[in-house]
Amino acid sequence: MLFAIGSAAADRPNIVFIFSDDHSPNAIGAYNRWLKSVNPTPNIDKLAAEGMVFERSFCTNSICGPVRAVIETGKHSHLNGFRQNGDKFNWDQQTFPKLLQASGYQTVLYGKYHMEGKPKGYDEWAVLPGQGLYYNPDFLTAEGKITKEGYCTDLVTDMAVEWLKEKRDPTKPFMLRVQHKAPHRNWMPALRHLGAFDDVLIPEPPTLFADHRFQASPSRNQELEIDRHMDLNYDLFVDLTAEFDQPASQKTQDRSAWMNMKRMTPAQLEAWHAYFDPKDKEFHEANLYGEALVRWKHQRYMRNYLACVKGVDESVATMMKTLEELGLSENTIVIYSADQGFYLGDRGWYDKRWMYEPSLEMPLIVKWPGVTAPGSRNHDLVQNLDYASTFLEMAGAEIPQDLQGKSLVPLLKGEKPAEWRDAIYYHYFEYPSVHMVARQRGVRTDRFKLIHFYQFDEWEFYDLDADPQEQRSQYDNPVYAAEVAKLKEQLETLRVEYGDDSDISAKPEDWRVKVRKGEVTE
Ligand code: CA
Repeated sequence: MLFAIGSAAADRPNIVFIFSDDHSPNAIGAYNRWLKSVNPTPNIDKLAAEGMVFERSFCTNSICGPVRAVIETGKHSHLNGFRQNGDKFNWDQQTFPKLLQASGYQTVLYGKYHMEGKPKGYDEWAVLPGQGLYYNPDFLTAEGKITKEGYCTDLVTDMAVEWLKEKRDPTKPFMLRVQHKAPHRNWMPALRHLGAFDDVLIPEPPTLFADHRFQASPSRNQELEIDRHMDLNYDLFVDLTAEFDQPASQKTQDRSAWMNMKRMTPAQLEAWHAYFDPKDKEFHEANLYGEALVRWKHQRYMRNYLACVKGVDESVATMMKTLEELGLSENTIVIYSADQGFYLGDRGWYDKRWMYEPSLEMPLIVKWPGVTAPGSRNHDLVQNLDYASTFLEMAGAEIPQDLQGKSLVPLLKGEKPAEWRDAIYYHYFEYPSVHMVARQRGVRTDRFKLIHFYQFDEWEFYDLDADPQEQRSQYDNPVYAAEVAKLKEQLETLRVEYGDDSDISAKPEDWRVKVRKGEVTE
């Protein structure tokens, strides 16, 4: 049923879309994974208990800006034009907020958007330029750049609460996007959360020391290993100045870590040092190397990452409480998602980009009072490609024919549509670039996965039931020959169906030139 413009707000649900950055389902209690024991997200878990958890939720292209562009348009990267970070989003194209707005919704966007340019289709917006900063960040608004003192996650939440309480037009339904920078690198927790996980030993993933022997060469030739690539200062804020025996006045902290800390007020910086300095001293005295050093880095990484997650988890609680206070809970859909998963030491890595499960996954939890059964779990294959169609159907607005996703509304109602997809399509475009993850495309069904690193013409195939950690490619195993052939066919069928005519013949050297020219960035 379509609603006429001007329908009473009560007839059409409000949508609060809380979206974080790099939050792996492994670090959400409700997903029952290996970090559940440290209770990382009590408030997101509460939302899950009241709504539906999507267990097979995946992105189309595991990197910040492109995931957001797919959500905005409901179209794959090759069609919306935002293939990799550094691309510019064309705001003149059709987007779901514009369509919601035209159907009578108020649309609001706060926080990280990572798409550059002035957002279009929003009644109100304040966004972080680029990656944004954790402490005392700038925001771009329709009126120009502003700077706010405080912690980014809290500031974004505060703007959303203020909008609900003071700026909202109560006669209209709304779509409110609360989009956090956290827990994106470089992991800087709120001061109140420093040390929040210090009294527990963070569990290690089973693949922390994986060697990638039985996989295609790109998985060995990358730059995102905790061991070889995670920087003590840049990533973990370890003070290395003592090692260089330099006076404090000439500190040569790594430029980026130092730049992030330089943004803090003297009081913030003092609290930061009070927490980290004794730990850094202990670290230097321990003189770790080899596996012990990797384990120490993993603990420090996870403690900072999970403390950033804690800020996001509190934001979810604040949003829920505010909706309750305003009497909006019953007619508001609350969604929690993040742009992609993340390696939390899985495979020995950090970061994302790959089609392997830890970075292919996206958390997706939806509470729709009266529609989603409390505590329900869905196992269908869903993607960020589906969000635009879903939002439009939730709002009772028309879904244009050219959107490539499927509305999740039937799934949210607990129905199983006869014609649901049996495979998802993936295409990552950014190589060579930061972290050196080869371009790849592939398909994943409920059980199997095929990946093509086409610049190197290398393939991988996994049976996820037999090898859920994807440690041993079975591409050349004759036992799976028929399945490999079938997935190759599916890959080609989906490529044609989605209209992906990307040129995959160009060799890595061509991108090298782009990197040198500064045309490709993180
Ligand atoms: Ca991201």
